[in-house]
Amino acid sequence: MLVAADEPMAVKAFTHSSNKWAHLAHGGLVRLRASLGRFGEAATLQVDDAELVARARADLQTLTGITAAPVAAHVQRWGGGLPQYGVGHLDRVRGIEEGLPPGVAVAGSALHGVGVPACIATGRAAAERVATAGHSRAKDPLARSTSNAELGRSS
Ligand SMILES: Cc1cc2nc3c(=O)[nH]c(=O)nc-3n(C[C@H](O)[C@H](O)[C@H](O)COP(=O)(O)OP(=O)(O)OC[C@H]3O[C@@H](n4cnc5c(N)ncnc54)[C@H](O)[C@@H]3O)c2cc1C
Repeated sequence: MLVAADEPMAVKAFTHSSNKWAHLAHGGLVRLRASLGRFGEAATLQVDDAELVARARADLQTLTGITAAPVAAHVQRWGGGLPQYGVGHLDRVRGIEEGLPPGVAVAGSALHGVGVPACIATGRAAAERVATAGHSRAKDPLARSTSNAELGRSS
C-alpha cells in the first residue's frame, strides 16, 4: 500500500510482509512493514523508535481502521538506502555500460531499478558479460598476452 507524497501522513508505504512471503506468517500473526521517511527527510532518521511506531500505528488506523497493538515491533533505519534517479538517468546508465572495457561489468540498484528482481537481473547480466569476456580471452592467445602485458604495466 503506497501513500502519495502530498498526503498528510508519516508513512510512505505499508507492506503486508506475511502475505508477500508465506514463511513470515506464524501462528495466525500478521507481519506488517511500515516505511517512513522520503528522499530528503533526514529528520525522520533522528526520531526515536517509540515515536516512529506510534506514527506508523496512527496512519495504519487512518488507512485501515486497525487499532490492535503490535505483539512486537522492530525499528530499522536505512539512511540513504535507495538511489534516487535523476532526469536523464537511463542515458547516463547507457553511457556507463557502453563505455566499459571488456571483462568489466556493473550491477546493482543504481542502474535499472531498485527492486530486488531488477538488481538480480543486472547481477546476472554482469556475470554473463564477465564470463563471456573470460571465455573469449581464453580462446584468443593474442588477447590474453595483451591483457597480461596491460596487467603488468598497471601493477
Ligand atoms: C528499507 C528498504 C526496503 C526495501 N524494500 C524492498 C522490497 O520490499 N522489495 C524490493 O524488491 N526491494 C526493496 N528494496 C530495494 C532493494 O532491497 C535494494 O535496492 C537492493 O537490495 C540493492 O541491491 P544491490 O545489490 O544494488 O545492493 P546491496 O544489496 O546493498 O548489496 C551491495 C553489497 O555490496 C557489499 N559492499 C559494499 N561495498 C563493498 C566493498 N567496497 N567491497 C565489497 N563489498 C562491498 C555490501 O556489503 C552489500 O552486501 C528495499 C530497500 C530498502 C533500503
